[in-house]
Amino acid sequence: MRLIVQKYGGTSVGTPERIRNVAGRLLATQQEGCKVVGVISAMAGVTDNLIKLARETSPQPTERELDALLATGELAAVALTAMAINALGGKAISLTGAEAGILTDRAHTRARIANISPKQIHELLADDYIVVVAGFQGQNADGDTTTLGRGGTDLTAIALAGALNADACQIFTDVDGVFTCDPRIVSDAKKIDEVAYDELLEMAGAGSKVMQSRAVEFAKKFGVEFEVRSSLKSDIGTIAKEETANMEDVVIRGISVDRNQAKVTVDDVRDEAGIAGRIFSVIASGNIVVDMIVQSVSKHGTTDISFTIHENDLDSAIKLLEPVVKEVQAAGLITKSGVAKLSVVGIGMRSHSGVAARLFDCLGKSGINIQLISTSEIKIAVVIDGQDADRAAQLTHKEFGLARFTPSQPASAADE
Ligand code: ADP
Ligand code: ASP
Ligand code: MG
Repeated sequence: MRLIVQKYGGTSVGTPERIRNVAGRLLATQQEGCKVVGVISAMAGVTDNLIKLARETSPQPTERELDALLATGELAAVALTAMAINALGGKAISLTGAEAGILTDRAHTRARIANISPKQIHELLADDYIVVVAGFQGQNADGDTTTLGRGGTDLTAIALAGALNADACQIFTDVDGVFTCDPRIVSDAKKIDEVAYDELLEMAGAGSKVMQSRAVEFAKKFGVEFEVRSSLKSDIGTIAKEETANMEDVVIRGISVDRNQAKVTVDDVRDEAGIAGRIFSVIASGNIVVDMIVQSVSKHGTTDISFTIHENDLDSAIKLLEPVVKEVQAAGLITKSGVAKLSVVGIGMRSHSGVAARLFDCLGKSGINIQLISTSEIKIAVVIDGQDADRAAQLTHKEFGLARFTPSQPASAADE
């Protein structure tokens, strides 16, 4: 008998009606002759509201209690889903992350899965239950509830699919699959049929929130193939899998935009061993995630070191860096918030040249100034003004011919 893991995100369970839709889908999958594990997120907006509530109650909530609070969003959603399945005449049971056997490390709010013991799930499946597991949470070795970082239900689903050796893992969401760009930014973005783990990893890390990047990382590491598809349609979505030979034919798979970034420059610092180490150690001590790092060419023995961080971390970064700037006798600290990162991603870049030139030219012709550039083997990322982000994505999308409609086939005629 096939075993299927189906994950439903917050919007897909955002109302009682949508929960009944999900219940019907889980039940229909079982009736097709499968063993079914549902992994469910909190109803849309619930996690944000819980975070807001915590911050209104206490300026710096303790992380253990924050996790205990945030996990309740998924607990409510799984109980509602299971009762909706039962109301349809099915047989369902909801499980917390701990009951599902998900053991994590102790890093509250961003815990990593250490081990999964799915014995109870197997027993319940053997008893013909549809097992509905709370996403985004686990339990640490002390028995405390932990959460897996924002978007973490994706990780629960992928990790469970791996641990259960599932025949299929389906990530149901509010779009038809992974698109060439966020369809909310580029209206004629196209659904991608197949994407390599590495491409999706770069896209997720560069701001395409359709999948949590840690979930994709896990899928790649353990070879868990999965499909991203719509919870409101029955159409096939996007398959994420190990790279195949023909994937290199496509130069650019997708474009990602990451807003709310800030740029920090340590200006005119001595070009000496140990300086970068000093700067980034202090940033790391504040648990601040650094993204792009660029060091300019040394002139007259000094250099500039620039990097990007999330805008929310800017105040802490300034506090941490000011004493270091004095200590290393840099000319100063220059910061800029409200910048965005635009990334073009594709494994085809490895065998095609000229992608960077085309990207820079396209932005330049439209008067969009590039502030920082970084590249990997399959990605080119630029930092630009936040206000230019959507326009830059639309222009780049067009430049690389990613649109769903050709000029001879207008969107209105071809749209379903
Ligand atoms: P869920 O609640 O189901 O986990 P998310 O809101 O986390 O869903 O992710 C789905 C959203 O991701 C879509 O509504 C879409 O706006 C956004 N998104 C960003 N980039 C992309 C992309 N390249 N392809 C598809 N969706 C994307
Ligand atoms: N509810 C959590 C969040 O909003 C986890 C998830 O939706 O995947 O981040
Ligand atoms: Mg999500």
